Amino acid sequence: MKILIKFLKTLFWPDVGPENRVNLFEIFPKLKKFFYNRKNFAFIRSLGDLIFLILIIMGLLGPQDPKSNIMLFIAWGIWWTSVVLSWFFFGRLWCALCPFPGLARLFQSLKLSHFKAPSQWLEKKGIHLATILFFLIIWLESTTNLTYSPRYTALFLLSIVILAGILGIYFKEYAWCRFLCPLGRITGVAATMALIEFRPNYQICATCKEALCRRGTEKIRPCPVYLGAVAVRNNLNCFVCGHCLVLCPKDSPAIYLRHPFREIILNKGKGVTCAYIIPFLIGSQLARLIAKTPYYHHWLQITSFNHSILFTLLFFSFSLLLIVVTKLSAFLFKHIEDPIFGKFNLTISILIPFAFTGELIYRLQYLLKNMGESLPTLGRQFNVSILLKYQFQVPYSMIKFLSIILLTLALIGSLYLIFYFYYKEFEREIPFKNYLHFIVISLGIYLCYYFLIFTSI
Ligand code: SF4
Ligand code: SF4
Repeated sequence: MKILIKFLKTLFWPDVGPENRVNLFEIFPKLKKFFYNRKNFAFIRSLGDLIFLILIIMGLLGPQDPKSNIMLFIAWGIWWTSVVLSWFFFGRLWCALCPFPGLARLFQSLKLSHFKAPSQWLEKKGIHLATILFFLIIWLESTTNLTYSPRYTALFLLSIVILAGILGIYFKEYAWCRFLCPLGRITGVAATMALIEFRPNYQICATCKEALCRRGTEKIRPCPVYLGAVAVRNNLNCFVCGHCLVLCPKDSPAIYLRHPFREIILNKGKGVTCAYIIPFLIGSQLARLIAKTPYYHHWLQITSFNHSILFTLLFFSFSLLLIVVTKLSAFLFKHIEDPIFGKFNLTISILIPFAFTGELIYRLQYLLKNMGESLPTLGRQFNVSILLKYQFQVPYSMIKFLSIILLTLALIGSLYLIFYFYYKEFEREIPFKNYLHFIVISLGIYLCYYFLIFTSI
């Protein structure tokens, strides 16, 4: 009972300080043991690599009719949705198990790598390139038949494996994952609202001269993403892979349960990546949802644009509109800079719950709409006629209801952030009227999603 109260207090009590966290390694020693036994991760990763390889082979060599190849549902339905769902609970843990760097791992373990340190160019420009790649994938997914083509899906997955492999040949560890992976970039930003964090005890680390977690030893390689527990300050780049646990002689790092908005509140929408990832992500979701409404088909007819052009126009218009709104809103709030903290933008913070919940809604809708066809598809692919009988349809009303529940949670989260900033973070020093437009923006975004979810088909 005591533990439950501690958990609830951590998750819901409006206090985002480091004291209001629960060390999960202390409460669940088996979890600690699991993370310290590195064979567990190696096993899950190898299993993931194998499943991925089978998926790619199925896509390349299997039937090309989307209704006869289960790899499409596994890749776009199960895999994508579970990655997005994992953002909220486990941060970047998915990256620790991801099969994309499988080839890079193989090259490096065979010593077929130059093991160079990542270049400065990669460090500076990589994240921007990764963001562009992510939105390119969203665009391709929405404007081409990528999600209906097993071969193109397999080639798309294979191209990422190959790119990660090439970077693995040049650079040591996971340069692709840290700097260029489109999925990793978005996962990193989403991980800022995760329920867990991997952090060292900074007081212990201050007494540590060697920092082996960062440098590694002769026998154990250093952190795969060039961090090490001592350098982890947020969830943006750490995979929660636990690799550096065995490198630390002082038992400093641990996994903590935390207030889900801790990092969003501390970060306050600071940082150039957040400033455009969030508006573009919401902009893309609004465009993707509109494309499923009857209005969209009407617009296609009256404008004579093709789908790609109209979708692109909507995507960019919504994203730019949101960027303008965030700038305007920062101007209305008047407080955009702190002498120590630097520039920040609270509008980005209050939009974060919508951006990532919106992505979850979109992915869940795909999963639920296609779920009923999965067994018959499997049956057609492997000639198991009995499976053809197990076709069903998740009712649209249920999908919409679930979407609205998630959306309402995002609204509650956004309003919570506004009130937290007013009462706790800025201690009512800034008049409440300066926050009113945040509430209007939150409600406006909520209504937009609500309307599109209800009218989409
Ligand atoms: S995490 Fe461990 S190895 Fe790394 S700096 Fe802290 S005490 Fe040293
Ligand atoms: S800091 Fe530790 S847990 Fe985080 S990615 Fe590096 S090795 Fe993994």
